[in-house]
Amino acid sequence: MRSVIRPLVAVAVIGLCVSFSVHVGALLGIAVTPLAGWMLALQGSAILLACPTIMAGHLIVGDSMDLTYLSSADVHAVLQACSPAMRNVMYGFFAYALLNFAFGAWTISTGAHVDDAGTLRLFSGHWMAFFSAEAVIMATYLQSAATVARCPNGHHVSPTANFCEVCGQPVERVPA
Ligand SMILES: [Zn+2]
Repeated sequence: MRSVIRPLVAVAVIGLCVSFSVHVGALLGIAVTPLAGWMLALQGSAILLACPTIMAGHLIVGDSMDLTYLSSADVHAVLQACSPAMRNVMYGFFAYALLNFAFGAWTISTGAHVDDAGTLRLFSGHWMAFFSAEAVIMATYLQSAATVARCPNGHHVSPTANFCEVCGQPVERVPA
């Protein structure tokens, strides 16, 4: 699974960079990409990458590979497994996407004409949020898959545990 996820992290990072460029252009009033082709490609990859990201999330929390939804406890465990810096990057993009969406919705509600740059601005805010979350979660999976969580007393521990659930010893991580 790691060999599949590794290139997809790169795809998500490239998607994030392209979306960021499109968004900056749109903020300056420039429609960097034509609305049809590129927009479809970015929207499509942002949605498609959610599938391997969900699988990676299941693997991070120690489930079998699965495409069904993650429970809220699983989502919490996945977020805890991400490094604080990467988590903050992801939260920042989500907060920005919400603000960007609220601003776009307000602009539309005033009856103002939304040009191509305005449309790209609205969409690219969401692309950045999606791509950043997908890159962070899949990269976290690669990190977690590179090590095995182990209790010094030999008890079975879940992959995201910091302390053994049986004896309370700090969990050690050793190369897989
Ligand atoms: Zn133990």
